[in-house]
Amino acid sequence: ISGIVAIVGRPNVGKSTIFNRIIGERKSIVEDTPGVTRDRIYGKAEWLTKEFRVIDTGGIQLADQPFREEINMQVEIAIDEADTILFVVNGKEGITNDDEYIARLLQRSQKKVILAVNKVDDFAQSDSIYEFYNLGLSDPIAVSGAHGIGIGDILDAIVNSF
Ligand code: GDP
Ligand code: MG
Repeated sequence: ISGIVAIVGRPNVGKSTIFNRIIGERKSIVEDTPGVTRDRIYGKAEWLTKEFRVIDTGGIQLADQPFREEINMQVEIAIDEADTILFVVNGKEGITNDDEYIARLLQRSQKKVILAVNKVDDFAQSDSIYEFYNLGLSDPIAVSGAHGIGIGDILDAIVNSF
């Protein structure tokens, strides 16, 4: 195993969809209602001969926790367990206060962070990634978990981070 990557982000941004793409199986349950996913949490992946583990921290649900508690827990697990953190945001919605909050936690952690701007479903939407430079993290990578676009770029960034 060359490393461990943990996926963090607000509910419904597409963490489990990307997780499934990375592990290459439809093992995690993706649902349309935020917060109702009963996800598989751990997966194993291989890319360019490197094997690594993936954690979908959003799949670790606490009953009726306020959002900030949920995020604090996700990030704490990611920092404790992972070498690299894959932070997923929603390109259709732009930066939210919760994204800013998560970005600050991740900056403080000193971990390597890969920033995935999900739901960039076609080329016409690719400009939506630029505002995410304002989070002050690494260069945003456009991805569409639903359509499988940009997953190779994410995988490259993951294995290069180990
Ligand atoms: P999570 O809560 O962050 O794990 O998000 P999910 O992976 O469960 O996805 C939440 C919703 O967003 C589901 O309805 C997905 O089908 C949808 N979704 C995920 N990725 C994409 C994408 O790339 N484009 C679009 N348009 N929808 C997506
Ligand atoms: Mg999920």
